[in-house]
Amino acid sequence: APVVPKPQPIDLSHHLSPYALGFAPSRLKRLYKYGSQPGIVNLAGGMPHASYFPFDTINASVLSSDRFGQSMNSKFLMMLKSIAGNQHLTIPKYDAPQGDPLNDIYLAKALQYGQCDGLPGLLEFVKDFALNHQHQGKIPYDTPAVMMTCGNTDAIAKSLDILADRTRGDKILAEKFVYSGSTQAATVRGIEVVPVDVDKEGMVVEGDEGLQGILESWDVSRDGPRPHLMYTVTMGQNPTSGVLGLERRKQIYALCQKYDIIILEDDPYWFLQYDIFSELPDNQKFLSTLTPSYLTLDTDGRVLRFDTFSKTMAPGTRLGWVVGHPKFIERILRVTEMSTQMPSGAVQALVGKLLVNTWGMSGWVTWLNLLRHEYEQRMNFMCAALEESRTVTIINVKNVRMRDDDGNLIEGEKYSLVHKAVKELYEFERPMGGMFVWVRVYFEIHRLYDGTNGKEIMEALWNYLAKPEFSCLVAPGEIFGATDELSDREAWKYLRLCFAAVDIEELKRGSGNFGKGIKEFFELTE
Ligand code: PMP
Ligand code: PLP
Repeated sequence: APVVPKPQPIDLSHHLSPYALGFAPSRLKRLYKYGSQPGIVNLAGGMPHASYFPFDTINASVLSSDRFGQSMNSKFLMMLKSIAGNQHLTIPKYDAPQGDPLNDIYLAKALQYGQCDGLPGLLEFVKDFALNHQHQGKIPYDTPAVMMTCGNTDAIAKSLDILADRTRGDKILAEKFVYSGSTQAATVRGIEVVPVDVDKEGMVVEGDEGLQGILESWDVSRDGPRPHLMYTVTMGQNPTSGVLGLERRKQIYALCQKYDIIILEDDPYWFLQYDIFSELPDNQKFLSTLTPSYLTLDTDGRVLRFDTFSKTMAPGTRLGWVVGHPKFIERILRVTEMSTQMPSGAVQALVGKLLVNTWGMSGWVTWLNLLRHEYEQRMNFMCAALEESRTVTIINVKNVRMRDDDGNLIEGEKYSLVHKAVKELYEFERPMGGMFVWVRVYFEIHRLYDGTNGKEIMEALWNYLAKPEFSCLVAPGEIFGATDELSDREAWKYLRLCFAAVDIEELKRGSGNFGKGIKEFFELTE
């Protein structure tokens, strides 16, 4: 079939902040292109000589990419050639004399000042993965740019720098329950967060507090400029664990086109989607079944998407990437040149050697596929434990005095009226993705609840669970309100439990203790 050329993204430069517009390319870096001319003696760059780097070779022992499938009996795994035990990788100091492309990741280059958009070997791999595998060649415009970041926190901060400006009165839309690390990055820059209602899937369109309601009823003379940015976590949302389906995505994208809003899609959990596979899928099926990113609908170039190795490898890698409109990525690159320069070369070399030369593309996808399965088992485990301890029987005993036939009280004669009621202690939606269970606690059923003291009851419960008998530390919902007003009005009614962070045995103990502790707390009599 003939290849139909993809259209260019539209001009969205009016969204750039005055700060972003003020950047000129690094004056020094302009010289670098001459440095690659054959035979040139580079006396221009202020680079230390590689022979003085104390690191000569890095050897690492790494897990094989099918490690978590080795005890699994699956057709897909049978097809792979299983590598028992660990694999080893070596990062040499210098490249091979013939410039072996398989040996493009070496220390003299990785540890040197280099390209701010990423170590070339790794960047090429990530581009190929993002464009052709993760998003399956479906980004509608030509050509999305990709650059490495120091993780999503870094990507979000830099994106806000290039797109948000307090002096213009910029505001940012976000799910009403939200990862506060990101919204704080906005508020600290003087950018007000406008909360949008959420349900089991994620951001809601309909209703007064849904996206459409907010945008339609926005009164510029009363409320100031309409938000031109949206921060959203659409897969395994933190803390609600929703996965936003394609239909809802289309509606929200259309609204963002209508009201000219840039979408910042923060997606650390995209590969953790649950209840969609009955058995371990092969890699192609795995990638094509996952709910697609906003990028695949993005005809305009108004989506900046952030990916991170924090949850696929380790948070301490401080490594990730951003995909989006080339004009936006170019400005993020300018900010990077003036701040972090580039992610750590040592980390890029390690991750690059693992991905490019050890696991390869199919090994990397196998790793993600199996990791998803691991987390799904943990999720099932926690949900089963929480399901089991969801109800409590509350017993009320009332002593009633006896009367004679004429209705007079009989001295000393009493009987007990026993009232038993089975009540729900809490409610939760089974996570569609991610690492968290978001639990709405029915503090209203507590004996001491008087209509106004819910927050005190929740605080007492939090303390009760943390007592040594239960040793259960949970995150109070209050910290996930998109604004102070929402924390105060609604978020405090919830607890967030993470099923990712501890050993399986601990997870069993912790989930059990959560159930025991909360039951006991509600059964307590004076
Ligand atoms: N400050 C000065 C004076 C420098 O000469 C350099 C590097 N040439 C830097 C800062 C950049 O330092 P770093 O690599 O730690 O970001
Ligand atoms: N965004 C969300 C929604 C997160 O849950 C987290 C980590 O908890 C981050 C970003 C931070 O990501 P990174 O480690 O890549 O900075």
